[in-house]
Amino acid sequence: MATLGNPKETIEILNKYHFIFQKKFGQNFLIDTHVLDKIIKSAEITKDDLVLEIGPGIGTLTQYLLEAAREVIAVEIDKSLIPILNDTLSAYDNITVINEDILKVDINKLVQEKNNGRPIKIVANLPYYITTPIIMGLFEAHVPIQNITVMVQKEVADRMQSGPGSKDYGALSLAVQYYAKPYIAAFVPPNCFMPRPNVGSAVIRLTLHECNPVQVKDEALLFKVIRASFNQRRKTLVNGLNNGTEIHLSKELIAEAIGELGVSPTIRGEALTLEQFAMLSNIIYDKMRK
Ligand code: SAM
Repeated sequence: MATLGNPKETIEILNKYHFIFQKKFGQNFLIDTHVLDKIIKSAEITKDDLVLEIGPGIGTLTQYLLEAAREVIAVEIDKSLIPILNDTLSAYDNITVINEDILKVDINKLVQEKNNGRPIKIVANLPYYITTPIIMGLFEAHVPIQNITVMVQKEVADRMQSGPGSKDYGALSLAVQYYAKPYIAAFVPPNCFMPRPNVGSAVIRLTLHECNPVQVKDEALLFKVIRASFNQRRKTLVNGLNNGTEIHLSKELIAEAIGELGVSPTIRGEALTLEQFAMLSNIIYDKMRK
């Protein structure tokens, strides 16, 4: 039975171990059982699942995960939390705690060893200062994953799930949607955490695509085109791509490529869909090879 998840028990544990919050590690612990239940439900965890938790803190979400999953691996950077986790998770035999920076862990190797390479689920109340490197790192390393269910800053969740025409649409939206289908499961106010963060939060689930939604000749080039298009948001697509240092084509050939895509020559990058970015990157790929 999960014993953590409310302010009283959290304060008791923190006092017992004289724990001092470290701002640099983005430590905002969950103290609301409804939010914890919502995360578990959204992640669609079963007794077959191996779950990787990033940043277990004092083990609050971890207890809920251990009840729902077959096995949990939790990676925590702060060594002062390890004795606390040994205490709060002592009733469970399906937990492995690793004291490491998640950005330094070879997750592919972990999945191979612990799950025979079969897809895992990732669940976390993320440290907000490294949300994008964590998520993009998982995608780019092609870790076998079914879904990623994470608490992130509300603005980041909005950016991940936006489409063309929205002010939140940008390189992060396209990168996330290239790999996964986003779904915002809940908005979470600051009073559900201890200490309270200065920003609103949201739980977002990213379900990995089984097949790529678009076909590109060169994945790295697709992301170069996307980055260049959004670097100067107020500029036209032609100027954005021409000013970027990563696309090695003359302005005339860039304009020709945009013409071949069948859109207006004065269009801005923020109006293009993922499919159109994929087509454009394939046209640019051919022109760069001529
Ligand atoms: N899961 C706990 C909860 O929900 O109450 C704590 C979440 S707190 C927002 C983020 C956690 O990530 C903290 O425990 C922090 O120490 C840990 N953390 C921060 N940076 C990390 C990193 N690079 N690798 C692993 N853990 C990290």
